[in-house]
Amino acid sequence: MPDEAATLRLGEALAAGIGPGRVIHLRGELGAGKTTVARGLLRALGHPGRVKSPTYAVVEPYTLSSLNLYHFDFYRFSDKTEWVNSGFRDYFNPAAACIVEWPERAGGLLAPPDLEIRLEIAGEARRAFIEACTPSGTRWLSSLPSSL
Ligand code: ADP
Ligand code: MG
Repeated sequence: MPDEAATLRLGEALAAGIGPGRVIHLRGELGAGKTTVARGLLRALGHPGRVKSPTYAVVEPYTLSSLNLYHFDFYRFSDKTEWVNSGFRDYFNPAAACIVEWPERAGGLLAPPDLEIRLEIAGEARRAFIEACTPSGTRWLSSLPSSL
């Protein structure tokens, strides 16, 4: 993905598959583009305003026309007790969609997502690896070339 616009387009493309109960994990180091993917997705779902990074608030809730969506960032969690004590487990329910930056900071206690996006910094560009997790546990992996 050569530029920020391409990362936004990845988020837009993911919007078609989101709905109640869906969970997307966004992995990658600081600055890899996780919030940018979430921003593209939220805009494609019709969110007209800003999409802030939830780094400090940990969660930003969105009420979209047909969907409650929670955008999490667990970067500030230092161990799994913070996740347990946060009460955020209840947000992961069949009526809501969740997008999670830094899922690994929940200490391995999150349920497997429907989709896992891993972003890597590649010079000035970014690379995305996409894994779909099916109920049977099969994982399908694809990577996006720079021409998305
Ligand atoms: P993260 O949430 O992973 O920390 P952000 O989404 O905040 O990362 O993005 C960090 C920076 O990377 C932003 O300035 C964003 O515009 C930029 N960026 C996102 N995607 C790309 C890309 N494909 N190429 C170059 N810069 C990008
Ligand atoms: Mg971020």
